[in-house]
Amino acid sequence: VNIEIINTGSELLLGRVLNTHQQWLCRRLADLGYRVNRQTCVADNGPSIETAVRESLGRSPDLVITTGGLGPTSDDITRELIARILGRKLILDQRVKSQIDSYFLARQRVAPPKSEVQAMVPEGALVLPNANGTAPGLAIELNPNPFSPEQKNACLVLLPGPPRELHPMFLDTVVPLLRRQLPLQQAFVCRTLRTTGLGESLVENKIAAPLDSLVKAGLEIGYCARIGEVDVRLAARGANAAEIVKQGEDLVAALLGEIIYGREDETLEAVLVRQLTEQGKTVALAESCTGGITANRLTAVPGASAVFAAGLVTYSNEAKKSILGVKQKTLTAKGAVSEETAREMAEGARKTLETDYALSITGIAGPSGGSAAKPVGTVFIGLASKEGTTVQRQFNNFDRETFKYVTSQQALNLLRLALV
Ligand code: ATP
Ligand code: MG
Repeated sequence: VNIEIINTGSELLLGRVLNTHQQWLCRRLADLGYRVNRQTCVADNGPSIETAVRESLGRSPDLVITTGGLGPTSDDITRELIARILGRKLILDQRVKSQIDSYFLARQRVAPPKSEVQAMVPEGALVLPNANGTAPGLAIELNPNPFSPEQKNACLVLLPGPPRELHPMFLDTVVPLLRRQLPLQQAFVCRTLRTTGLGESLVENKIAAPLDSLVKAGLEIGYCARIGEVDVRLAARGANAAEIVKQGEDLVAALLGEIIYGREDETLEAVLVRQLTEQGKTVALAESCTGGITANRLTAVPGASAVFAAGLVTYSNEAKKSILGVKQKTLTAKGAVSEETAREMAEGARKTLETDYALSITGIAGPSGGSAAKPVGTVFIGLASKEGTTVQRQFNNFDRETFKYVTSQQALNLLRLALV
């Protein structure tokens, strides 16, 4: 199955918006066993989009996905342009129009007159409903594709630009369409194991050799390193795909053990909220150098309110003393970035907020403020519970943003491991 993606949007070429659709769509398609052969990004102007679509269809792909430009504004021209290129009339679809009207009604607004263009559907196109916006997606069968030298069939799918509209639309409507229209020749199975706590090459060192015989049997292994974590992706094709991937997964699980925190798209914070919920426990945070990013991550998980009591950003010594009860003596003798301060912060947060667990974070983000004994990047992470308090020392010598994320990752992971 030959797939091409065309991302439209001048903002993408001006560097104002990161082209996340490229990665997101390629990733979803790859996990379903499809390969994207080519991806093009063009500005929102007629000639650029037209050239890209004609060129792409001219290579006779099975599927072309375009993103963006389905909205009501003057720079949203994809729908009209593609209808013109294909010589198809745009027809007002009353069902779509009433869906758009109800979308606005549900938000206590009246649909602006311009929104009607989003209900214009090229003749013969399938409407892909938009659960999170007004512009529906469209799927157009080209039987045959008029630009294909071999007169091959193709499918053209038009998706909206906003990620929160595109993502569910792709999963809910495009994936079933793909499975129906462009089934894979061979079974495909893919599993992603998510790890934190070890670098990419160390992860590889632990599993590569033992997986060798499975690789010979057809297992593909992929590593994807992101800030603070490494994904291990196991995939296989063919009749034995499920069995091979299962054996690979079991082996990796045994070899990596606790550093695996989740599967597929589950985030570390989501795992932690799930563990706390299942165990009926609560947590509070006392953050310093991470500035609340850990609280932000926890509160991004639906249902966090059941387990998350509060996140205190106690940045100054005064705040550490008055809010958390850290002793002046400790600050003077050991410093704000020390095992002892981390301990008192965690214990203070747990006591004040009456939670089962409290995590504390204190460190030196840099670029200044380091010393020989405590260089920039030094972090102490405390975990207080009824069993007592542990403090972990870490060294995260990165730029500030990475430092904050990695540190919050370690803190969340410390509690995750305590709850295993
Ligand atoms: P709207 O109805 O919101 O105008 P649209 O389908 O016309 O939707 P665009 O106008 O092309 O889509 O894009 C809307 C917004 O979606 C952009 O401003 C951008 O923030 C986001 N967006 C578009 N394309 C991408 C992309 N490839 N990657 C990430 N974000 C994107
Ligand atoms: Mg738009």
